[in-house]
Amino acid sequence: MTPESNQRLIVVKIGGAEGVQIESVCQDLAELAAAGQRLIVVHGGSAEASELGEALGHPPRMLHSRSGYTWRYTDRKTLEIFAMAANGKVNTLVVEQLQALGVNAFGLSGLDGRVLVASRKAVVQSVENGRRRVLRDDYTGRIDQVDAKLLRALLDLGCTPVIAPLAITPDGEAVNVDADRAAAKVAAALSAESLLFLTAAPGLLRAFPDEQSLIDHLPVDRLDEALELAEGRMKKKILATQEAIAGGVPRVGIADGRIPHPVSAALAGHGTWIG
Ligand code: ADP
Repeated sequence: MTPESNQRLIVVKIGGAEGVQIESVCQDLAELAAAGQRLIVVHGGSAEASELGEALGHPPRMLHSRSGYTWRYTDRKTLEIFAMAANGKVNTLVVEQLQALGVNAFGLSGLDGRVLVASRKAVVQSVENGRRRVLRDDYTGRIDQVDAKLLRALLDLGCTPVIAPLAITPDGEAVNVDADRAAAKVAAALSAESLLFLTAAPGLLRAFPDEQSLIDHLPVDRLDEALELAEGRMKKKILATQEAIAGGVPRVGIADGRIPHPVSAALAGHGTWIG
């Protein structure tokens, strides 16, 4: 692969929250792919996993850290439900939509071919009702390695990888990983030209939820300040942005996935661009 084709890669993370128009996203991606743009898609699955968990009598349990992060408590059954929802349903439907639009989408999770290797967080601490709790049966991981060669081989074959946020530990155990941070690691490992998070907000808001308070450009040295502004899951996107920039990705966008032509609008400058 030439450095030129390397630079032309865009990694797009599609949010799992309600409101993001997967069809419009896929249409835009198909236009870009037809114009020769290399793309990797990473998606979430939390909303579907929560819905499936409720239906199967194993509803989600959210954990909170002292520093304000929230994540899904993932016992073995939750991991299996997450795999059914994210890899089974969301991944298949995104691949189906892209294939119907003429994109040779290739669905996989980080387990396949050990594309994403993660270390399992063996001991997880959370705060519940003001009290600290230690959990030892959590199957959540932190990505340590991305197999860039495998993803490049798929791109070189003309495929568009569509990645579900599951990873494998060095011992061969499946773990659930954060999709935003997975997208950041993939973008860094493949020296992507840009990383785009499509979500159910116009971008990073200075005064959430006032949508008029959009920050359109954020210099890298103000990311720490942005961490203060962001609440809940937006914090993870800022953290993922920091990781992507530290890994050499020159531009990261956080933009609205609810509007028509969400990808082209974002690439034309809509949303918050960092870098
Ligand atoms: P996704 O499913 O796209 O990963 P989430 O819904 O989990 O996204 O996280 C993004 C959400 O974070 C937004 O939809 C918004 O409700 C919330 N949010 C919190 N703080 C902010 C902020 N400062 N600016 C924009 N959105 C914010």
